[in-house]
Amino acid sequence: MSDKFDAIVIGAGHNGLSAAASLAAHGKSVCVLERADHVGGMASDRMAHLLYNPLPRGVQAQTRQIDTVSLSPDGKHVVLRDGIASYASGDAHPDAKAFKTLHARLVTYAALLNTLAESAPPGLDQGLTSLAGLREMSRLAKLGIGVKRLGKPEMREFLRILLTNVYDLLLDEMPDGPLPGALASDAVRGAFAGPRSPGTVLTLMYRLRNGGSVSLPTGGMGTIADAYANAARKAGADIRCGVGVTGVIVEDDIVLGVTTSDGGKLLAPAVLSSAGPMQTMQMAGIPSFDIEAVRRARNLRAKGTTAKLNIELKGRPEFTGLTKEQSKSRLLIAPSVADVERAFNPAKYGELPSAPSLEIVMPDGQDRLSVIVSHVPENPKSGWTEKERGTLTETVIAAIEAYAPGLRDQIASTDLLTPADIARLTGAPGGHWHHAEMGLDQMLTTRPTVGMARYRFGVRGLYLCGASAHPGGDVTGMPGRNSAAQVLLDGVA
Ligand SMILES: Cc1cc2nc3c(=O)[nH]c(=O)nc-3n(C[C@H](O)[C@H](O)[C@H](O)COP(=O)(O)OP(=O)(O)OC[C@H]3O[C@@H](n4cnc5c(N)ncnc54)[C@H](O)[C@@H]3O)c2cc1C
Repeated sequence: MSDKFDAIVIGAGHNGLSAAASLAAHGKSVCVLERADHVGGMASDRMAHLLYNPLPRGVQAQTRQIDTVSLSPDGKHVVLRDGIASYASGDAHPDAKAFKTLHARLVTYAALLNTLAESAPPGLDQGLTSLAGLREMSRLAKLGIGVKRLGKPEMREFLRILLTNVYDLLLDEMPDGPLPGALASDAVRGAFAGPRSPGTVLTLMYRLRNGGSVSLPTGGMGTIADAYANAARKAGADIRCGVGVTGVIVEDDIVLGVTTSDGGKLLAPAVLSSAGPMQTMQMAGIPSFDIEAVRRARNLRAKGTTAKLNIELKGRPEFTGLTKEQSKSRLLIAPSVADVERAFNPAKYGELPSAPSLEIVMPDGQDRLSVIVSHVPENPKSGWTEKERGTLTETVIAAIEAYAPGLRDQIASTDLLTPADIARLTGAPGGHWHHAEMGLDQMLTTRPTVGMARYRFGVRGLYLCGASAHPGGDVTGMPGRNSAAQVLLDGVA
């Protein structure tokens, strides 16, 4: 087997695979090294379950769009489809019009931001936080046209809400309840933030770039990871699982290749890492970087707050007030924006949520409830003892059982992954959904840190290609693809 490539990719998460596919499609010889014995990273059945974005061209897998149902304690559950809200009973929702208007506006703004997500962030000092920044950005032709098309009043509104919090935005438009609660939970899922945190309108728009629809992969998220791997292999990439990268070889500030856990050495002028920024620095050797860059990477905020509970079932649970078909939707437990904020409070103090906000789906063809539990601290004050794990599992089951009586009797087994488990299994910093918080100070031109925003990572030939790079996490493949484009542009591979 060859030990010399044009590029080596660290990690076969979907972003590493996306980067490899892009480079290989441009005729580069690429080797992907993954320390786990399987591809996918967080994009696996045990962790992720839904697509908030369409699959990139070349990644072929079956998916189907599903509705969202925001569950209500009074049984008046709200169904959301393409920005239209109604009660699950079929009755009209009194805030449907306000919701439709707000949703349409946010989707329009989100589509604008998508232009930014599709390539390296613009080289702006001001970022998106000022009119000057926005003007500068307008120079980018595509985005400029989009912004202009908004018209002055909408552009002003865009600027007004962009940096605000989703709590105020939503409750300015409609009374609190499961309808705005659904959007609030979408804004903060995966983040160490509550709806009142600044920047949560921006993170909501991040989720609405695809018009706000969500799709369920047929056969589970593992099939999506396999589809990314197939696309990379088809383009010619060599994917090696069970081989960890132990070091990046750097000489005279230039990347030469990597050393591997099996004692091997692979050479390449470009190394793309989907590990976190600090881990990548450690692999390349801290002395290879400026002190300031190391300080920034060390201070990066990456407190994972997402746990996953997989509940294997003996029978199908029945959700009160939902038809069988409706219960196959994405179910949210986010009864109000205030409840989502309250669910975040304990995490701030290292405590477990007592009323967590949940996203629940039943993957097609599986007898399983796949539950994403927001706002679970990576390292609770009490530590992750069996007792704590049991308490969290019990809290989540009780929260779902309140809507699906008898659920408990249908449970065959449970599998809980805490953020600490996720960090251990994938190496993701803090077990964080996005590898680094999507805060205003860690987005766009400052993602992951100031001076490291365009995938180039300090040393010539070293690049970041995972979720910690622009535009961030979720299963999009964008950081990987953008990073590969930067490598090609720089002509290092
Ligand atoms: C519980 C949970 C649920 C989620 N659900 C969803 C969802 O439903 N929809 C959605 O869009 N997003 C979801 N996300 C987020 C999404 O899964 C991630 O943002 C995304 O998968 C990150 O992809 P990545 O390729 O950048 O990184 P990762 O998936 O973390 O992959 C990095 C890979 O690099 C490997 N690696 C690290 N270091 C080394 C090394 N030294 N040598 C070799 N290999 C190495 C790791 O083993 C890993 O496979 C979820 C996240 C979590 C935690």
